[in-house]
Amino acid sequence: MSKIVFFCIPAHGHTNPTLGVVRELVERGHEVWYYSYNCFKGEIESAGAKFVACDDYDTEQKLDPKDATRVGKDIAFSTKILVDTTLALDDLVCRDMECLQPDCIVADSMAVWGKAIALKLNIPFISSTTTFAFNQYSSKIMKQSLGELFGMLFSMPKVQKELKRLQDKGYPINNIFDILKNDNDTNTIVYTSPEFQPCSDTFSKKYAFVGPSVRPVSEQITKEKEKLVYISMGTVVNDLLKLYKNCIQAFKDTDYQVIMSVGNLVKIEELGTIPENISVFTHVDQIAVLKQADVFLSHCGMNSVNESLYYQVPLVMYPQTSEQGGVATRVEQLGAGIRLQKVNSSAICETVKQVLETPSYKENAKVISDGFKKCSGAKGAADKILSVCKG
Ligand code: UDP
Repeated sequence: MSKIVFFCIPAHGHTNPTLGVVRELVERGHEVWYYSYNCFKGEIESAGAKFVACDDYDTEQKLDPKDATRVGKDIAFSTKILVDTTLALDDLVCRDMECLQPDCIVADSMAVWGKAIALKLNIPFISSTTTFAFNQYSSKIMKQSLGELFGMLFSMPKVQKELKRLQDKGYPINNIFDILKNDNDTNTIVYTSPEFQPCSDTFSKKYAFVGPSVRPVSEQITKEKEKLVYISMGTVVNDLLKLYKNCIQAFKDTDYQVIMSVGNLVKIEELGTIPENISVFTHVDQIAVLKQADVFLSHCGMNSVNESLYYQVPLVMYPQTSEQGGVATRVEQLGAGIRLQKVNSSAICETVKQVLETPSYKENAKVISDGFKKCSGAKGAADKILSVCKG
């Protein structure tokens, strides 16, 4: 039986897809350790893994909000955080790995300390990717701004200085891309289908596209009108009062039933009078809503889009980050949705109407959904991990 160690960042979207895989491995009699954060302890343990808390070693969680916005934008600053976290974990993890002698490490593509430790200790490694896999071809879908590119070039000397700190501690990492990028030699699990992944034919056989993991529904939603419009901007960048107000304006005189999930940052009272055909919540069971919805106005987080397409719901897309922009571009390429060009109420209403009244959007969503359902899922991911285990 094999011993497998997982590393992840503290984010639902990155943790959830791995839990079914953990369950599958444990059911097959393998032992799993999972390095994560206390807020995920319960879910990880109920999937059957032994939980190890990284909270005390996590530099990013201790940042003040001003600095937190630099992560992902400023490559030198981001590298410093990654190096700090890796070095903070170094003693604990090296000691644990020495003792455990795992057969393989599975690390989220953003939990780069997992990859760094696998390289240092020469342990077989698998990357777990909950967004699209990126190489020189697929990355064209995420348009990087000129400013971001210049920022990256000028920060390279600082990045190299940070990496020297890792090299001094025995990590064989010469280039930031050794840990950030997945090349064709890295075994990688990607939680989407080969059809939805852009340029999937440019990835080697080391990539397993196992499809999204969509959680079971926990509630029943009653559909009250012929068409149900669902609106959500996800759980992170959802402070969009103006958009929500414009949606109310757009749909107040329509025959549509509208369900809007606005998150915790906006106060529902600030939305003014809410008409009878519109219901507003801070949070809904999104799977239950999508099972009934006819169109989803979404920020295009990877999970939301996967869930929408799984239930054959076409999208109106209003991405807020470059990663979400990449997902939106892919949905547009496959004809399963339209990007919202303007956010005034008439543009919102017209775009939603266009998606509802043009059958091809739903037909194309169904094609993607069929592809998702053909994927090997948690079983395929577990097979991939076991094929890499040295035991
Ligand atoms: N979600 C939900 N109810 C809500 C809003 C969101 O259950 O009212 C879930 C949704 O099903 C998805 C996740 O939260 O699984 C959001 O993840 P996504 O990657 O789409 O966006 P993020 O919140 O990370 O920006």
